[in-house]
Amino acid sequence: MSHSTTHQNKGVSVISEAVCQKIVGRDNAFTAVESVFAAMAKNTAYNFPVIREAIGHENALYGFKSGFDRDGMVLGLKSGGYWPGNTEKGLTNHQSTVILFDPDTGKLKSLVGGNYLTAVRTAASSAVSIAHLARKDAKVLGMVGAGHQSTFQLRAALEQRNFEKVVGWNLHADKLSNLAGVCKELNIPFEAVSREELCSQADVIITITSAFESLIDKNWVKPGTHIACMGTDTKGKQEVDAALLATATVFTDELAQSITIGEAQHAIASGLIKEADIVPIGDVINGVKPGRTSDGEITLFDGTGVGLQDLAVASVAAELAEEQGLASYFSL
Ligand code: NAD
Repeated sequence: MSHSTTHQNKGVSVISEAVCQKIVGRDNAFTAVESVFAAMAKNTAYNFPVIREAIGHENALYGFKSGFDRDGMVLGLKSGGYWPGNTEKGLTNHQSTVILFDPDTGKLKSLVGGNYLTAVRTAASSAVSIAHLARKDAKVLGMVGAGHQSTFQLRAALEQRNFEKVVGWNLHADKLSNLAGVCKELNIPFEAVSREELCSQADVIITITSAFESLIDKNWVKPGTHIACMGTDTKGKQEVDAALLATATVFTDELAQSITIGEAQHAIASGLIKEADIVPIGDVINGVKPGRTSDGEITLFDGTGVGLQDLAVASVAAELAEEQGLASYFSL
């Protein structure tokens, strides 16, 4: 309540990208994302239908993701998209801003830079899946993909288990230096390997690519592996063999997205699994459903990315920035 009073006095808060980077760490992102997955599974938080449009200008894809978390009292949307020509202008191609509203009155509360937050909330998602589903004795982490998101994924994953080694693969091998650099900084050995070799070594695998065909054959994956599929967030994208989803126990952030735009879309379309076979990870967090039930089980997390994750981390950013005097304010 005191937070909302501060707000009313000072006006709309603005939290810049630089402030978000300074104050939202992997630990608060993890807690915020875990809590919102739990709320989604209890139906106390829900995502509204996603809007995504090619706007016919600058080749841009624009959209917004919106939702309401009644447990956390967070209402708002993330707006933005993909502007492919931005690199030439010295800007990031993916652009996003989070807009938070007061759920009691509908008044605009905060504007929060969303670029850094998108990366930490996506990394928190796979980290939550590792924390709840991977074997406790996992030693080798496999990274498939070495783009912008991959280093955030790597750092968050390494905090979940006592990993002793990282193995990595990327379509363009030169990009693997992104992963190798983080491993060097954290003093953990890194090895560039083939995809098949990666599966034979890794106890936990993260896929974070823009692939449109399977990169991981079902027969390559060892019993007991946990695999977090994070790249597939659009119809047509795919990172792993659809047959792997029939062998694995499948978990997701949101069922509706998993079966339409997530990794499960292909296994569902070809009848290999049914919607009822997929477990919302929030049910595991809430203790309503079991997570991993044996050391030999393959667990697969289909992380599709939901607006409520963005709102959760943006709300943390706004709260911390206001508390620490790092927000600026304006009146409407
Ligand atoms: P990026 O453009 O920086 O990197 C793309 C990665 O995909 C690179 O490693 C590239 O080598 C690889 N790649 C591209 N085409 C490939 C192909 N045909 N086969 C194999 N690898 C291929 O992108 P990024 O920002 O790191 O994002 C990676 C993916 O994650 C994107 O597809 C993005 O849409 C998705 N994403 C998902 C979420 C989520 O919440 N699930 C959030 C953010 C981004």
